Amino acid sequence: MTSNLAITLRCVLCGAQYTPGEVDYVCPKHGNDGILDVQYDYDELRRRVRRQTLADDRYAPSLWRYRRLLPLDPRTLDEVLAGDTPLNDVGWTPLFRASRLAASLGLRHLHLKDDTRQPTASFKDRASALAVVKAREAEAAVITTASSGNAAAALSGMAACVGLPNVIFVPASAPPAKVAQLLIFGSTVFLVEGTYDQAFDLCIEASHEFGWYCRNTAYNPYMTEGKKTVSFEIAEQLGWQSPDCVFVPVGDGCIIGGVHKGFRDLLALGWIERMPRLVGVQAEGAAALVHAWQRGSDEVVPVEAQTLADSISVGLPRDRVKALRAVRETGGTFLAVSDDEILAAMRLLAREAGIFAEPAGATGFAGLQKALSEGLVNPDEHVVVLVTGNGLKDVESAMKATGQATRIAPSLRAVKEALVGEPLA
Ligand SMILES: *Cc1c(COP(=O)(O)O)cnc(C)c1O
Ligand SMILES: [Zn+2]
Repeated sequence: MTSNLAITLRCVLCGAQYTPGEVDYVCPKHGNDGILDVQYDYDELRRRVRRQTLADDRYAPSLWRYRRLLPLDPRTLDEVLAGDTPLNDVGWTPLFRASRLAASLGLRHLHLKDDTRQPTASFKDRASALAVVKAREAEAAVITTASSGNAAAALSGMAACVGLPNVIFVPASAPPAKVAQLLIFGSTVFLVEGTYDQAFDLCIEASHEFGWYCRNTAYNPYMTEGKKTVSFEIAEQLGWQSPDCVFVPVGDGCIIGGVHKGFRDLLALGWIERMPRLVGVQAEGAAALVHAWQRGSDEVVPVEAQTLADSISVGLPRDRVKALRAVRETGGTFLAVSDDEILAAMRLLAREAGIFAEPAGATGFAGLQKALSEGLVNPDEHVVVLVTGNGLKDVESAMKATGQATRIAPSLRAVKEALVGEPLA
């Protein structure tokens, strides 16, 4: 595998270092828990990349504007992007000021990072875009992943952009809209009669057996690198200022690990002056990291996950080491929110900011409301909330968040009758 950058891969558990040619995915001493961190020579990067010229790049309105800060072979990337598909358009999502929502919370500076409008409608496109390029570099004939839904939909969609055959393992309980995405993009789909964990292990086993390139989150070291681009965008969209805190929904912990990595890269490059506090938000029914945080322990005890936010319904977070580190090293915190608080957050985001999020997608915002009620954020701080997945992916939950519409006869009289005592929203 070639890359434009000299990188090393460092085990998050033992610190052992490898070159990309030495290992495929994880630290051989630690098996699947030996997740690797991609490390750069920042002096070299600083010489090669300037933040002033990012906007002039031919791939500017996408995350590929940061390709020189990603471990990619530039020629493979150019080949892949020559197809001119939605893969070219991943990232560079809007950062909205959301002033009406901010006012209703009593905040002065609130921004929403809207990843509901990624090509396959979730944040996961950031990682899957990179996965497809890495698979091409490895000259893999097939790419595979296990996923609770969105990572699979993202890989499926990104693979369709380049015509890369792919095999997807999802729990049989995945929401229908996400399975529909997989099928319409033409993936080979296995609905595993078991948990996400079982699908995850099966996917790795199959990738070894058949020589498929494996995208699994918290296994493939490059996925964090795709996810870190959200921090580059936030900093650049704020004029190279760091916000005071960033709220991130957390399941496996890969997104928050990526957010941390992005800001760490920027600090090392000297492009920002300080780190924001990272706040990880989990659903109460899947809050293994919150529990560990409250106990002040690195020991994460698995829970029996139960929440309607399927994208963060995780018993034992795979990227727990990176997730705990992200919060600890930035002076942040972990918070849990109930499913009812998530549904209320979905309503408020939609009504006060015009963004329709799936339950996990609104969980960061539910966490902000909790943090405000507990005095963990002060009203003058600059707050960014990640909105990670589109509400159309889970219409059933959206209907739980709202009341029913009014049925009427097709006459003006019926409209008038229905409006009596019903002020317009
Ligand atoms: C995957 C996902 C998350 C959580 O990301 P992790 O890396 O598992 O912590 C949050 N929201 C949405 C919409 C997701 O798809
Ligand atoms: Zn190790």
